[in-house]
Amino acid sequence: MTVPPRDMVFYSVLEAIQKADCFLCRLLRDHVHSSFEHLLYESVNDPGFRETWRASRGYCQRHARLLADFSDGLGISILYKDLIDHWGMDALLKPAGQPCAACAEERLHLLADLNVLVRYWDDADMQKAVHDSGGLCGPHLRAAREVIKDRAIRRTLTCISERGLQCLKEQLQDLINGYDYLHERPMDPQVRVAWRRAIEKLVGQLDLIESRGGQNENKG
Ligand SMILES: [Zn+2]
Ligand SMILES: [Zn+2]
Repeated sequence: MTVPPRDMVFYSVLEAIQKADCFLCRLLRDHVHSSFEHLLYESVNDPGFRETWRASRGYCQRHARLLADFSDGLGISILYKDLIDHWGMDALLKPAGQPCAACAEERLHLLADLNVLVRYWDDADMQKAVHDSGGLCGPHLRAAREVIKDRAIRRTLTCISERGLQCLKEQLQDLINGYDYLHERPMDPQVRVAWRRAIEKLVGQLDLIESRGGQNENKG
């Protein structure tokens, strides 16, 4: 397959694969954070956004917690007062008519990022980064297996993720051993936080905001 010329998105996906335990967790977290920053600084009063906001009755719990982490008292107050003004008691009594807009946006980014991975799959640096990585977390591996049509790519991602899971298991054992007085505490920082990385391997990245201080299961 001919590899297309490299562009900005290629480098952002490559860097995420090189640095993160799951590159989709890293990229999607960054997408959500910049989208919320944009919302709070520029779009709180945007009529188009308000329409979507009201229809989905704000965000799901996960995205609402992420929004809360920005601690933007003014922006968030305006948005939630708008919901209460608009819906009254229905805000508590009736289910939202539309799914969370941030979830929908995240799904679009996930599809775009996987598309970049597939397009540049045969790039030498991309291949090296993928093979040196620990693969994907559970939710994103399942999504990739559902979305990617190329059987060989699905299989490679699955094998690499399995190898990452085994490596993590050994690191967890090293960490457990380190609590025994007969053993040295592990020095490797990756091993020291293996407990947290294991949670994230199974359920996806725990959404910490760092920048602001803060199915198809039968596919091969
Ligand atoms: Zn992930
Ligand atoms: Zn959501």
